[in-house]
Amino acid sequence: MTYRAPINDMLLALNHGAGLKAAVDAGHYGDFDAEITATVLEEAGKFATDVLAPLNSLGDEHGIKLEDGKVMTAPGWSDAYQRWSAAGWNAVSGPESFGGQGLPLAVNAACTEIWSASNIAFGLCPLLTLSAIEALDAHGSDELKNVYLAKLVSGEWPGTMQLTEPQAGSDVGALRSRAERQSDGTYRLKGTKIFITYGDHDMTDNIVHFVLARLPDAPAGTKGISLFLVPKFLVNADGSLGARNDIHASGVEHKLGIHACPTCTMTMGDKGGAVGYLIGEENQGMRCMFTMMNQARLGVGLEGVGIADRAYQQALAYAQERRQGRAVGHDGNGSDPIIAHPDVKRMLMQMRALTAASRTICYATAVALDVSVRAKEAHVRGAAAARGALLTPIAKAFSTDIGNEVASLGVQVHGGMGFIEETGAAQHLRDARITPIYEGTNGIQAIDLVTRKLAANGGASVWALIDELKDTVRRVEASNDPAFGTTAAKLREALGSLERASRWLLERVTSKPNDALAGATPYLRLFGSALGGCYLANEALAARSDGAGDHSRYVALARFFAETITVQTTSLEKTVTEGADAVNGADAVLLA
Ligand SMILES: Cc1cc2nc3c(=O)[nH]c(=O)nc-3n(C[C@H](O)[C@H](O)[C@H](O)COP(=O)(O)OP(=O)(O)OC[C@H]3O[C@@H](n4cnc5c(N)ncnc54)[C@H](O)[C@@H]3O)c2cc1C
Repeated sequence: MTYRAPINDMLLALNHGAGLKAAVDAGHYGDFDAEITATVLEEAGKFATDVLAPLNSLGDEHGIKLEDGKVMTAPGWSDAYQRWSAAGWNAVSGPESFGGQGLPLAVNAACTEIWSASNIAFGLCPLLTLSAIEALDAHGSDELKNVYLAKLVSGEWPGTMQLTEPQAGSDVGALRSRAERQSDGTYRLKGTKIFITYGDHDMTDNIVHFVLARLPDAPAGTKGISLFLVPKFLVNADGSLGARNDIHASGVEHKLGIHACPTCTMTMGDKGGAVGYLIGEENQGMRCMFTMMNQARLGVGLEGVGIADRAYQQALAYAQERRQGRAVGHDGNGSDPIIAHPDVKRMLMQMRALTAASRTICYATAVALDVSVRAKEAHVRGAAAARGALLTPIAKAFSTDIGNEVASLGVQVHGGMGFIEETGAAQHLRDARITPIYEGTNGIQAIDLVTRKLAANGGASVWALIDELKDTVRRVEASNDPAFGTTAAKLREALGSLERASRWLLERVTSKPNDALAGATPYLRLFGSALGGCYLANEALAARSDGAGDHSRYVALARFFAETITVQTTSLEKTVTEGADAVNGADAVLLA
């Protein structure tokens, strides 16, 4: 089954749930014409349906081949990439001074969801290029920008992000790749990187690698890491391609999912060292890399949303066709479509509601990141930066957990056929499984949320957000719409749980760090469930006041989320505030 971008849902989420319209109305987006958003998404949706979605299962079956040292992608892949970049899709939010369209990150975020839904293995290539563009634009010298930025923006040369080494995964500070200064101002890099996405392929004539390495006299840990731009082919002064650089793929991984995406072991230094150019300052690589990582973390969150939506669309179609048993109250002959059974309805509603909530959380993160650089007033930019920083780990971890849960429910809705590869439901689940792992595992995101984002300024960012969410609850109450059921009460209780759990963690983050760390993952889930519930309610209110004919479905969705998902925050609060001793006492079981 193919994929169709749910444009109306996406626009509602972007404009109202995520606050794009309010930010545009407040002047934070300058002269951006918000009317263009619908056209961009419709065109992206068409490209995804016509070109990318048909390649999804083909790429899964064919996978990647490493032949004579060259990484070969699946048939049709290279052609699709040329068409994709020629149509300008790589340049949507790229800087205008380097050929980009300068559109908001929020618009590109919605496009990223579309690419991921139609073909996550394809979408990963531009996802990392986008991060590379951000890092080079923010930290690179004019000389480097002039040679590489326009090519990256157009997509002619994609980018990679190279942190991981066998002994350095979550602990990036343990990396050992070496960079030595040369008299001409360049560096020579030696070392091995593993698990590098699109580390090599046959889709373009050059690749721009962004590599973390350590200088010989660098301090230990993350303070001694520098970021280098290492092209696959060196670039001559006239812009033509020169010698092959000393960096190559020495292996490709066989994986559970995303088979069509090359995951490479990269070797540098077989021939004396790869030529690298410093980005930013020596030993400041982590700072530069964080620019890339935050962008990429949001992108991975959007992968979760995209896969979830694809799985939902497929399960919904199957449930309307597959007939089994008679629904209670059925008075005709024969069996009913399984969608008539309450348990199947529950699964489908859960899929749809979780997808919609994680979509809006991701879009809201993108709007905050946009406003943090686009707004005129410094205090607005500062508040938006704090909001973007707070939401980024939630966008990444909540949405990718949802991607897995929804893809798994998608298999369940199909029954036995879900386990059979032909339906495609199984591929979504296999493809989704990597998303909670890369770009910082979801456990690491939860730790970031508690120890850095919540702890910043005594929790100020969290209290500011909760205040806004309380306003949504008041507006749901004021609507007096019985279709909302007990939505307002459930959301109010959830915000109470969020507030209490936040205070409990804040009190322990430095005094009893193991207690705070033990509760980090359930806290992130609690946060996402309360936030998602309020965002969906906000969207439903907006749909009502717009007089949209179909507003009742948004109200019903918000109600379902509040009454069946947000309610879990009460027990999550207990897990955070009463579960630490049980977690920290686990050695008695695990090490017995
Ligand atoms: C398909 C694929 C593509 C990838 N693409 C790239 C890429 O393009 N570039 C790149 O640089 N890397 C890439 N990676 C690497 C990826 O980012 C890492 O696998 C990931 O960061 C986790 O590191 P690790 O595998 O070493 O796991 P580990 O760090 O060994 O973690 C194992 C487990 O321990 C937990 N853990 C570790 N440390 C802590 C801690 N301090 N506190 C609590 N829990 C902890 C983790 O959450 C995890 O559950 C890719 C990986 C895969 C599989």
